[in-house]
Parts: sequence; C-alpha cells; structure tokens
Amino acid sequence: MRPDYVDFHTHLDLYPDLSAAIAACDRRRTATLTVTTTPKAFARNCELSQTSEFVRVGLGLHPQLVAERSKEISLFEKLLPGTRYVGEIGLDAGPHHYRSLELQKSIFERILRLCADEGGKILSIHSVRATKPVLDMLEMHFPSHRGTAVLHWFSGSASEARRGVALGCYFSVNERMLASPNARRIVREIPENRILTETDGPFVKRDGKPIPAGDVTQAVKEIAALRGLGASVIQSLIVENLRNLTICHTRNS
Ligand code: MN
Repeated sequence: MRPDYVDFHTHLDLYPDLSAAIAACDRRRTATLTVTTTPKAFARNCELSQTSEFVRVGLGLHPQLVAERSKEISLFEKLLPGTRYVGEIGLDAGPHHYRSLELQKSIFERILRLCADEGGKILSIHSVRATKPVLDMLEMHFPSHRGTAVLHWFSGSASEARRGVALGCYFSVNERMLASPNARRIVREIPENRILTETDGPFVKRDGKPIPAGDVTQAVKEIAALRGLGASVIQSLIVENLRNLTICHTRNS
C-alpha cells in the first residue's frame, strides 16, 4: 500500500517500546527506515518489524560508538548481504568523538567499500562536523551507480550541499534541524527530487518529549513553507522521492 509519509531516519528501538513504535508508524502509514547503532541490535529490530507494512531496518555501526564497538565490524560484514538498508553510519568530529575520528574513518571506508561491492544499498549517513570528509569518502569509495547515500541531518555549507547533490545524495530533513537558518537555506536550494523527511526520534524532542514515532507532519509543513508550496504537494513529492530511491535501488542491484 502507498504510504502517506516518509521517515527515513529514526531509532525506533530507542523508544520505550519498540513494538508500539513500529505500530505507530504503521498506523500513520509512514514508510520508515529505523536505523540501528550496532550490528548486534539488527536481529531484534528485524524480527519485530517482520510483519510491519511500512517499517524497514537499517544495519548500522554508529560513529559515536565506533571507539568501543569497532570489533563488531565483523558481525556487520556478515549481516550486510541480508539487507538493502544501511545506517546509521558515518563520521562524527564533534568534541566528544574527535579522538576516535581516524578509527571512524577506517570503519566508514570499509563499510562504503563493502556496500559498493555488493551494490544497490541505500545508506543513512551521519556527518556531524565532518561534512567534508564524508563527501570526500563517498566520492572516493561509493560511486553513485553502486548505491545511494542519504545525508541525515545535514549541517554542512550550501556549497557542500551542492557537492552532495552532484554526488547523487539525498537529504533527510527533520523538524529540529529547520531551526537553523543554514539548514533552511539548504532546504530551499536543493533539488526537490532529493528531499526526504525524517524524525531522528527519539533524539528530536517536541515540547520536551520525544517526537512521536513516524510523525513528520511538522517537517513537511516547514519544508512546504520554505519552498512556497502546499503541505500536501510536498507530502506526496516526498513519497514519490522515496519510491524513486527504492526503484533505482532495484535497478542497480
Ligand atoms: Mn540518528
């Protein structure tokens, strides 16, 4: 069935009740990518999402966890052939994670190369204070005909956004990031066929509480206002973008 909404980056397993969060996405008819932060979490997420109509699971190794969990890369490699969705992966050069940046880069490179080899993967990528190295590594190790990168919560410059577009990237946009004037400018300027929505729940809060699972209505409204279009136009555009993204995947694989 055709979804009504798209949440292309959330952590349903970090909500208090994973099954209830999956059910909420199904009830909202939100096509959802729930990312994982370690490969060990992948199996349980798959199991509980198995009967869900709208929820898919990404295999991840979060850059903020690489310092303690880099050994799980072997489990990641073992599980990779079984999934078309990969995330959360990427780089984090913020003050708390800067020390592991070289290790993060070696893990990220390995993941990109494996994904490029297998082909047809769709990646959800974290790039806090690391837009340039993320784009450099995508360019070097993940050619766009081998899969698609979705830049989650993009916080780079306008020219870096253009570079991402040229590399074939999509951008998943949440309501919280739209508080930043820079992000608002980028959301106005990127091609409309590269825009997706996300919640990044439960990290993104609304009125002090985790954003409801799969609720991208606020993000849709704000993107629509920024682009001078009606919310329903943007809503169906984003569903269409997801369709194209996943169809391209099939063609590539
Ligand atoms: Mn996240």
